[in-house]
Amino acid sequence: MTAASNASWYEAMSTTDAGCELCASPGGELLFQDGQLRVVLVDDADYPGFCRVIWQAHVREMTDLSRPQRAHLMDAVCTLESAVRRVMSPDKINLASLGNMTPHLHWHVIPRYADDAHFPGAVWAARRQKTQQEADADAQSRARRQALLPALRAEIIRQFSSTQE
Ligand SMILES: [Zn+2]
Repeated sequence: MTAASNASWYEAMSTTDAGCELCASPGGELLFQDGQLRVVLVDDADYPGFCRVIWQAHVREMTDLSRPQRAHLMDAVCTLESAVRRVMSPDKINLASLGNMTPHLHWHVIPRYADDAHFPGAVWAARRQKTQQEADADAQSRARRQALLPALRAEIIRQFSSTQE
């Protein structure tokens, strides 16, 4: 099983909004999609393993979805959480849906570690002040996590493929 191509992502789009970042682009490296949602890996140097579940159509709020659609979306968020947890072994997973800047329904699934750049604050909070020694140790931690990404891609594809059967 290989990752879906960006071309097929575009064909799966239904309702779009001109000027919306998540309508105009996949929003990350596309790992899985169906007709309703897609799963992407975000390229964030501070947060290897940061992923998103993005609703394909330009929908603003959870309550704009039907109950079965909501259930499908949250099930995908949990499947993704499970894959991230299994491979990245974080101290905590953060699930977040904000969308203030991009009001197109999406959930962030973020592996968090006690030594990451913002812990215990949100990843959008001010960065923690660190000593040079701490910064060097953190860089090594990030490199170790970065090295897990091929395994994470494979695990996400495996878990989402098995939910489809
Ligand atoms: Zn959109």
